[in-house]
Amino acid sequence: MGVAENLLSIKKNLPPSVTLVAVSKTKPDKLVMEAYEAGHRDFGENKVQDLVARAERLPGDIRWHMIGHLQSNKAKYLAPFVHMIHGVDSMKLLKVINKEGAKNNRVIECLIQVRIASEETKFGLSGEEALRIVQSPEFRDLKNIRIRGIMGMATYTENQGQIREEFQHLNAIFEDLKATDLGEQDDFDQRSFGMSGDYQLAAEEGTTMVRIGSLIFGPRDY
Ligand SMILES: *Cc1c(COP(=O)(O)O)cnc(C)c1O
Repeated sequence: MGVAENLLSIKKNLPPSVTLVAVSKTKPDKLVMEAYEAGHRDFGENKVQDLVARAERLPGDIRWHMIGHLQSNKAKYLAPFVHMIHGVDSMKLLKVINKEGAKNNRVIECLIQVRIASEETKFGLSGEEALRIVQSPEFRDLKNIRIRGIMGMATYTENQGQIREEFQHLNAIFEDLKATDLGEQDDFDQRSFGMSGDYQLAAEEGTTMVRIGSLIFGPRDY
């Protein structure tokens, strides 16, 4: 099946309100353009260099999502144009993004990456750490970022029950954060959970964004 057909069959499984981020990492521009010509506009990359290079080559109305870990010294390359940064995991990084946003006269939308206990990744914050950030007075001073919600990944496993529990755990963290007084940053409404293997479960558990690569563009060979 081609890219356009793949997009269609995934969208059939998602409520229309869910944003489908097509993860194009390692794939040729040609396939990205097939999705673009089918009307798709939200694309994700996990490396800054790849994202910037692609944004320079491809149409300007694409909404680029940075879905991988972002080192703070690279935020400046994304700040002029990035649509959303999904993997923010420290106050330090938020401050840098804020500074670069100010230089570009933009408010940059971010998601806090939350890690779940059983996951081995070193990236992401615990629920408590995320709460501490949004409750800190210095967070209130950041006028050039907007935290729109959280990003999370379930364990890579066949165990559907475990994946569902993990999405529910992420949902609980989302609700805790949403319940805090976020000051002016009160449009906290996005959950970016779900990839090729678990996006339908994520949708059943109420995700608002899914990040899908291999189901759209085919398996990656590294
Ligand atoms: C690669 C990647 C995805 C997409 O993975 P697939 O399994 O190919 O859908 C989603 N999120 C992040 C953070 C990724 O790095």
